[in-house]
Amino acid sequence: LDLYDLSLQGRRDTPALDVRGPSGQWHTFSFGDLDIRSNRLAQVLASRGVRAGDRVAFCLPNRVTVVDLWLAVVKLGAIAVPINVLYRGREIAHILGDATPSAVVTTTDRAPDFEASCACWTVDALEADASTAAAIRPSGRADAATPVALIYTSGTTGVAKGAVLTHGNFAANALSLLTAWGISSADRYFAALPLFHVHGLGNGIQCWLASGCHMRLVERFEHEQACDWFEDYRPTLFFGVPTMYVRLLDTAPARARAIGERMRLFVSGSAPLPAQVHEDFAALFGHVILERYGMTETLMNVSNPLVGERRPGTVGLPMPLVAVRILDEAGEPVTDGKTGELWVKGPNVCDRYWNRPDATASAFVDGWFRTGDLGTRSADGYITLQGRRSDLIISGGFNIYPREIEEVLTSLPGIREAAVVGVADAVRGEVPVAYVVADTDLDVSAVEKSLRAEIASFKVPRGFVRVDALPRTALGKIQKHLLPAWTR
Ligand code: ATP
Ligand code: MG
Repeated sequence: LDLYDLSLQGRRDTPALDVRGPSGQWHTFSFGDLDIRSNRLAQVLASRGVRAGDRVAFCLPNRVTVVDLWLAVVKLGAIAVPINVLYRGREIAHILGDATPSAVVTTTDRAPDFEASCACWTVDALEADASTAAAIRPSGRADAATPVALIYTSGTTGVAKGAVLTHGNFAANALSLLTAWGISSADRYFAALPLFHVHGLGNGIQCWLASGCHMRLVERFEHEQACDWFEDYRPTLFFGVPTMYVRLLDTAPARARAIGERMRLFVSGSAPLPAQVHEDFAALFGHVILERYGMTETLMNVSNPLVGERRPGTVGLPMPLVAVRILDEAGEPVTDGKTGELWVKGPNVCDRYWNRPDATASAFVDGWFRTGDLGTRSADGYITLQGRRSDLIISGGFNIYPREIEEVLTSLPGIREAAVVGVADAVRGEVPVAYVVADTDLDVSAVEKSLRAEIASFKVPRGFVRVDALPRTALGKIQKHLLPAWTR
């Protein structure tokens, strides 16, 4: 909380935020404006009955009111529950039923999706009320252990779980990122990530507020438009997901160079950045993307260094304040180069899962948090992720890490994307099968031949399925459990 006061009180007249109005013109807000706007909105929420500890859900596209709402919740000691704007019936019902918020704040057109299960406040009504409310800061004070957000995991591997994140978790994460990535008030952050996810909220918003830098907030990332904004806004900092970097590879070379020359740092996370994309991007933009690894429950854990080698295909080294262990199934540390599950510990790790004592008990063990992600550490400390423990394929007693095969597949000409999963096999238990998005018809025997030159034969997929697209979450993660069933 005090972290934001540095910006909100100490930089009152400093331009803080550009957002686009409905007719396309940019509006600029100073940190002082945002302080006043959030005090007003906090008064409105309080007048509607929101108290410390109450949950306030929101399902909104990026706009200034999301920032106001976040700050109002922070100031009230309430708990924000972000909901992905792409979520519909089942997903919404799960979150609202589990989080039991006082209300959900949404746009008028989305209100019907929520009204049946929860009190629903439209953002227009709140904005109207806030415009005449007193700009008085609520009196409550939160401490580091006070929950500030209940954020649902992406549901990539199954049902989404609510992670209870505290003020201290966000503060620790922000300080750690500022230090690790050299973020200062001189930065200009181009924010194209949705604020309903920890990548946009936990990293983007916190780094902006804690550093007091400038932010341009846009509703979504579209390649052409994003390039115009890169040219016009001249950001120094960009946080993206791999699919954004894949799209940026379509930028004309001269334009890419010019954008790259003015940038300080491109960061990627939320899903694996294929090593090939990393290399192609460096060739085109003249920038080595900094890849990092985090999750809803822990915010950021591991990052490639700002200064020093950013190694493609790896997520780098533990963040400041974060301890990482890699353990085998028996709970013993693995030696360098061997695969195990990543366990993490630090002030960034959430308190618990909401309403899920079972999941809490299995994930939090002796003060450590089990990530469910598999990885290896090199002799010089770089961590490489190998996918989820739940995606591991065991074939004839051998472990197969789908990520390794996917990397080889996407390095082949014509193959854009790949997802490898295990399917039941009477003899070997499981065998790998590949789903690929390809530019042309698949020449299966040529693909097999290329794979055999790179990886052991037991890892070569027994089947290849060409699909138009891979099922992905709103942030671009492949939902392997939604791939079409494999038939021989
Ligand atoms: P669920 O837990 O509901 O199945 P999820 O794990 O995808 O969904 P998030 O918390 O949004 O939900 O995502 C965290 C996960 O994203 C990590 O556990 C890891 O598997 C993956 N991830 C994050 N950053 C990277 C990265 N740089 N490379 C590979 N995977 C990453
Ligand atoms: Mg997860």
